[in-house]
Amino acid sequence: PNVSDQTRQDAAEGAREDVREGFKAVYGRTPDGVWAAPGRVNLIGEHTDYNDGFVMPLALPHTVHLAAARRDDGIVRLHSGDVPGAAYQVPLDALTPGRDGGWAAYPSGVAWALREAPLPVGGADIHLASTVPTGAGLSSSAALEVATGAALSELYGLGLSRELLARLCQQAENDFVGMPCGIMDQMASACCTEGHVLHLDTRDLAQRQVPFDLAAEGLRMLVVDTRVKHTLADGAYAGRRRACEAGAAALGVPALRDVSHEELDAALARLDESLDDPEVRGCVRHVVTENRRVEETIALLDAGRTREVGPVLSAGHASLRDDFRVSCRELDLVVDTALSTGALGARMTGGGFGGSALVLVEESDTEKVGAAVTSAFASAGHLAPHLFEAVPSAGVRRL
Ligand code: ADP
Ligand code: MG
Repeated sequence: PNVSDQTRQDAAEGAREDVREGFKAVYGRTPDGVWAAPGRVNLIGEHTDYNDGFVMPLALPHTVHLAAARRDDGIVRLHSGDVPGAAYQVPLDALTPGRDGGWAAYPSGVAWALREAPLPVGGADIHLASTVPTGAGLSSSAALEVATGAALSELYGLGLSRELLARLCQQAENDFVGMPCGIMDQMASACCTEGHVLHLDTRDLAQRQVPFDLAAEGLRMLVVDTRVKHTLADGAYAGRRRACEAGAAALGVPALRDVSHEELDAALARLDESLDDPEVRGCVRHVVTENRRVEETIALLDAGRTREVGPVLSAGHASLRDDFRVSCRELDLVVDTALSTGALGARMTGGGFGGSALVLVEESDTEKVGAAVTSAFASAGHLAPHLFEAVPSAGVRRL
């Protein structure tokens, strides 16, 4: 193995040993296994996944590591090394959707969804530690769910496919936690592969792994975690989802995915007559044009014209800012600063109202653009953002 492969292997082994040791310290016994599930960043295709549309996420090296062992008494114990306090203890029979608002709702929800399926899942001791920043739009919640689901699937010999695992984890987040998210985050954490971006049709889960080796082309992708999460984020997400559904209903289609880009002007004209709601209009416009941008991106990547993806990303940001209206001043500042210092493209990524932005940049401009963003944040009196390079990594696996 070359040096970086070796370094990565050492880091993976270190993380596995750390979480095993953590498990032993909490539960006084040895885990049956250790699983890893990554966070993700979405290249393009935002707020399209609950409209049956297209997305293009890649898994990050940032990972939830989870050690688990079976229990035969129907009790799930949950401990996170990232949250102070003792382990939660929940009898499987007592799991009730929507009752517990804390972090344990995510893994509990997965156990609940498996039982609802119904699948023969029993108790477990679980300890985890994560390097995925939480609430940063990088899907720490899906990583937590998918790691839990993979562990329970193996501990109980359920043999879940990656797709079914993702669907059950989405169900946990929708129906147990109460967050009406689409399927992208769970599919990304379950199905992404190293060195690729995942082109996913969220209607039928048709997938294509698209090679994504920016370094080979002299390019970099920076993720900028703004470290802010505005309080309206969760309510606004549900509101946008309702607006999309209202738009689809008014247009008489099952989902906004069924409105093609060619039909957009006619569809908007019909919408103005029947509904006359500027919020719904903007949401329809965003989703239809965003699906088109995913198509454009995939065509450019297939043609080896990766630099030209930049303007498509920037157009996606403008659409999220002006039509879908989920950006905020910190995200706009990242994008504006990056573009004015020579980035090829930039956009907010994830649900919005804070969280992260991504920046596509020539390798030689990486330092300059990163420094400009950091200094713009300092001048504006914002928290110092966290910057890192997005390296396409593997989906869920047993270590
Ligand atoms: P995102 O998925 O974008 O990071 P969410 O609000 O969807 O943001 O999920 C974040 C929540 O997931 C946290 O508030 C916490 O409840 C849970 N979570 C994520 N990582 C961990 C962890 N390492 N330990 C405990 N809970 C976690
Ligand atoms: Mg989440």
